Amino acid sequence: MNILGIESSCDETAAAVYTPDGLQSNIIASQAIHEQYGGVVPELASRAHHKTIWHTVQQALNEGSITLSDIDAVAVTQGPGLMGSLLVGICFAKGLCLSRNIPLVGVNHMDAHIYANFIDDQPEYPLVSLTVSGGHTQLVHVTAPFEHELLGQTRDDAAGEAFDKIGKILGLPYPAGPVIDERSEHGDPSFHDFPQAMLDNDFEFSFSGLKTSVKYFLEDQDNREEFLKNHLDDICASVSHAITEVLVKKLRNAIEHTGVKTVALAGGVSANSMLRRKAEKLAENTGCNLHIPKLAYCTDNAAMIAITGSMMTQQKLYADMDMKPFANLKALERMNVQR
Ligand code: ATP
Ligand code: MG
Ligand code: FE
Repeated sequence: MNILGIESSCDETAAAVYTPDGLQSNIIASQAIHEQYGGVVPELASRAHHKTIWHTVQQALNEGSITLSDIDAVAVTQGPGLMGSLLVGICFAKGLCLSRNIPLVGVNHMDAHIYANFIDDQPEYPLVSLTVSGGHTQLVHVTAPFEHELLGQTRDDAAGEAFDKIGKILGLPYPAGPVIDERSEHGDPSFHDFPQAMLDNDFEFSFSGLKTSVKYFLEDQDNREEFLKNHLDDICASVSHAITEVLVKKLRNAIEHTGVKTVALAGGVSANSMLRRKAEKLAENTGCNLHIPKLAYCTDNAAMIAITGSMMTQQKLYADMDMKPFANLKALERMNVQR
């Protein structure tokens, strides 16, 4: 089946075409408007999706050298995400499906982050995914397509959220994750010992204390500006160290607990260089095959929605035309799905 994938859960309007020959196009329109606010403004995000979505879909069809009449199903992010943003993508997808009389597929955005690993690669089941993004941090045991067991997740901030909030404290632009990553490569990870929280718990995370600890650490310095100027790279490296150590230690727990031989990283934070290096070492030490999506498939994109939609159509997991968006992940179960 030829699948058109649409993603609009946060601040990226994205469309992609996936066919039996693989990924044909992957278009992302990022919304620059949020930078000046240091975070995503939901109302502005919905409006920007509304303005951009048709053009983005057209571009995906053009670059995929395919016309709408050759699309067999539309896969769209059902959640989690910002309600207003999700609604734009879902209503647009429903309109397309109604006009062409083709089925609709509702994709769980967090499933899609995991299945981004299958775009260029063929990971074997069972696997453990460390899904680390702007809104989530999860260890997921995947025994077969769409057979997931959530081993644990964060109790407060997500790993990406920690990078972004700490970046704000350090005066870095939003999103700060990539900037902290880049700076960390020039800094000393042992410059300061920031706390690694909840190491006594196997699979759960907590990152909210880390930003407070960075804040107090800076306040303790006599000349904060001067100190930051001289040691920004070292602080970034120490923060990255604290976050990635916790992630990798718990990933090790999950590997040992499940006995899997396949490990995947997923979500925006899987773009992180230090995390990638540590995960590679862990995989080597535990005899696991490690899969990490290409950088373009780590952060939000529609290629991951299209491939997940394609896998769902193989299992006849279609949605009704009254499919609702869901803003949070509490219900991992898909609503309105028919087998
Ligand atoms: P969710 O998927 O949980 O709904 P999201 O879609 O906003 O959240 P993603 O697009 O998967 O999240 O990832 C964005 C996050 O990834 C941001 O917090 C960003 O700072 C972080 N990030 C991106 N690249 C890097 C990097 N190289 N190092 C660390 N963090 C990064
Ligand atoms: Mg984004
Ligand atoms: Fe995401």
